[in-house]
Amino acid sequence: MINKSKTPKIISWARKKSPWILHFNTGGCNGCDIEILSLLTPYYDVERFGILKESTPRHADILVCTGPVTRQVKTRLLRIYNQMPAPKWVLAVGSCSCSGGVFSGSYNILGGIDQVLPVDMYITGCPCRPEAIIDGIIKLLEEVK
Ligand code: SF4
Repeated sequence: MINKSKTPKIISWARKKSPWILHFNTGGCNGCDIEILSLLTPYYDVERFGILKESTPRHADILVCTGPVTRQVKTRLLRIYNQMPAPKWVLAVGSCSCSGGVFSGSYNILGGIDQVLPVDMYITGCPCRPEAIIDGIIKLLEEVK
């Protein structure tokens, strides 16, 4: 039989120990995406921190965004965010997702991720180093604690 009083604590503990991330490129040049992919290689091996890359928003805790938000992608980004179960967090990876970066001022660019979603952590860099991305996720989880 499940002890209901302890269930939320266990879920919260598991979430902090094993955050599942969903990666979405909102319109960047793919430079930051390659750095995110390198997290999955044996060299960086993010699973040692319990970080697992998910392919569906319905199972994800953290939405990791790269690139600036284009007008075309805005509704998709919102749909993905709304499909994620609460509590959920948003990580802006790379200068483009933080502020629009080199794409700022373009006719089809709305700006950084925070123009559409509430961002919990910003990681700058063009592109971001994988170490900075890992550091950002760990710091985000520490703030959640
Ligand atoms: S921050 Fe730099 S590497 Fe990353 S998507 Fe923008 S232009 Fe590309």
